[in-house]
Amino acid sequence: MDSTRFDVVVIGAGAAGLATSIFAARRSPDVTVVALDGAKRLGAKILVSGGGRCNVTNAAVTPSDYFGGSRNTIRRVLSRLTVAETIVFFRELGVSLHEEEHGKLFPDSNRASTVLDALLGECRRRGVELRTDHRVRRIERRGDGFLIETARGVLGARRVVLATGGLSLPKTGSDGGGYELARSLGHSIVTPTPALVPLVLEGDFHASLAGVSHEAEWILRIEGGKMVRMRGAMLWTHFGASGPVVMDLSRHWHRARLEQRTMRVAVNFLPGHAFESAERAWMSHASRRPKAHVRTLAAEWLPARVADALLSVACVAPAIPLAHVSREDRRRLLRALLEFEVAVRDSRGFGYAEVTAGGVPLDEIDSASMQSRICPGLHLVGEILDVDGRIGGFNFQWSWSSARVAADGL
Ligand SMILES: Cc1cc2nc3c(=O)[nH]c(=O)nc-3n(C[C@H](O)[C@H](O)[C@H](O)COP(=O)(O)OP(=O)(O)OC[C@H]3O[C@@H](n4cnc5c(N)ncnc54)[C@H](O)[C@@H]3O)c2cc1C
Repeated sequence: MDSTRFDVVVIGAGAAGLATSIFAARRSPDVTVVALDGAKRLGAKILVSGGGRCNVTNAAVTPSDYFGGSRNTIRRVLSRLTVAETIVFFRELGVSLHEEEHGKLFPDSNRASTVLDALLGECRRRGVELRTDHRVRRIERRGDGFLIETARGVLGARRVVLATGGLSLPKTGSDGGGYELARSLGHSIVTPTPALVPLVLEGDFHASLAGVSHEAEWILRIEGGKMVRMRGAMLWTHFGASGPVVMDLSRHWHRARLEQRTMRVAVNFLPGHAFESAERAWMSHASRRPKAHVRTLAAEWLPARVADALLSVACVAPAIPLAHVSREDRRRLLRALLEFEVAVRDSRGFGYAEVTAGGVPLDEIDSASMQSRICPGLHLVGEILDVDGRIGGFNFQWSWSSARVAADGL
């Protein structure tokens, strides 16, 4: 039994937990803050994030970049630590950021370790005690505080911050154990599903194209629900499809499957085009270059391997001159290009997911302090909450902003 009673015990020292510890210690230097983590080494997820470069945030973060809880609540939380303030926060820690495609902000070092080291360094400077290999098994309300049972003994806390993440990449330590802790203190859990995860496809169309990437629009039609259309880069793989547009779509697919809705997924290989405009483009090519082969045109629109695969699926001979393509063949090929149905068998699951959809519902939290409405003295931050952002730095921003709100409310 550790006789120490801390003012603040942060459970989980990932992005949200480390940031909460820093903000809490900076705000009140007299407050004792300890961060407990089950992992032997901290920050595994930060280190693998953004392909090892850590996409810290995005130049343009809005509530509509997030799903799950109420957008108004998300807006309130995001407004308490804006992107501009996040940039300053990291600059003060010695991490300058630069902007890349799609507004993604990365450290100038292009190394995720710079971000992790800066957070850990600031924790140490501010007197935050970091305890690794301290998995929390139980939290109990005791008097005006909490008793926390870890793998290495028991300690007391006036306030507890639950920052245990979700279920994505469980080998990093975020294995859903935090949901049980939240449940034991009276919270409900919106069923978690993987998000930002590659999709596994039926058939063998994808396998022959493994390694090919291109721009596409993915369309998810959900029976009795809204249609989701997303445009961006995709990558064919040996198991199915990946890349930003597929990852972004995956949360909607999983949520619809959870609700047992019938779904259809299609790929538009000519994003921005509908049938009429694509047919007009074709006719214009055919009149300007009547002798050009169908394959030549298709390969101008798409990587040659994808063009060949689609010609084969549509049963259109690649070497026919454009002028000789029958109306029927042209329309069949255009339909394959614009609305190519793919059968999604599953996703790659939590082991490959960048984030978790679902978690502790936001309406069980006071968004002014991230304090539980059910268990006073308990605050929740980061991915454990029912909020998931699209790809591009939005999930880390949720961690930083919710951490700031919690620290101000401790
Ligand atoms: C491969 C990958 C790449 C990503 N890239 C990006 C990116 O570039 N940009 C972006 O915005 N987002 C990215 N994300 C998402 C982002 O990493 C998460 O949204 C963010 O890390 C969530 O922070 P968190 O602190 O809430 O949870 P986590 O980072 O999951 O941290 C939770 C911590 O709690 C600990 N823990 C869990 N249970 C217990 C327990 N019972 N007792 C003690 N400790 C416990 C875990 O060991 C872990 O250290 C990526 C995710 C993955 C998997």
